[in-house]
Amino acid sequence: MRLALATIAAVANGALAAYLQRVGRRQRSPALVASGAHLWGDVVTTAGVLVGLGAAWLTGRWALDPLIALLVAANILRLGWHVVRDSVGGLMDESLAASEVERITDIVRHEMGGALQFHDLRTRRGGPRPFVELHLVVPGGMRVDAAHAICDRIEAAVQGELPGADVVVHVEPESELRTPAER
Ligand code: ZN
Ligand code: ZN
Repeated sequence: MRLALATIAAVANGALAAYLQRVGRRQRSPALVASGAHLWGDVVTTAGVLVGLGAAWLTGRWALDPLIALLVAANILRLGWHVVRDSVGGLMDESLAASEVERITDIVRHEMGGALQFHDLRTRRGGPRPFVELHLVVPGGMRVDAAHAICDRIEAAVQGELPGADVVVHVEPESELRTPAER
């Protein structure tokens, strides 16, 4: 009876773990993925213990039990390693995918009318939120409100492509123009 309960709990935990990890990946949340993996560890442990008990009971060889416990422990270590690696990737702020950067470049080119150039486009993802940063070179005599209007246009267009994106545009005069080689 107790074994049956443990089995049911393990199956329920397994479903929850799979769900957490799927949502976590979609929302790019290392914390959710980590809780999913933690739960998986529990499920694997329970399953391992059940298999160990079952095998020992069937064969009458109780020496199997520690062996299976060892395998279970190894598996939990493996899961833990994956969680650490994935969250470090998230914490270290990976830049956006090349295709996304290309889309952003097109959008900025399209929306920067009145400005002379943009450079130093930097993108990263901190958790679920994309960050986009760039320098916009405008004629030095341009009024602040005109330069700001271009910035707002660029910000809105990038956010249209990447909902929730944090976009920062740094305005510069033409003394900051870069030659193609420097960009
Ligand atoms: Zn610059
Ligand atoms: Zn503004």
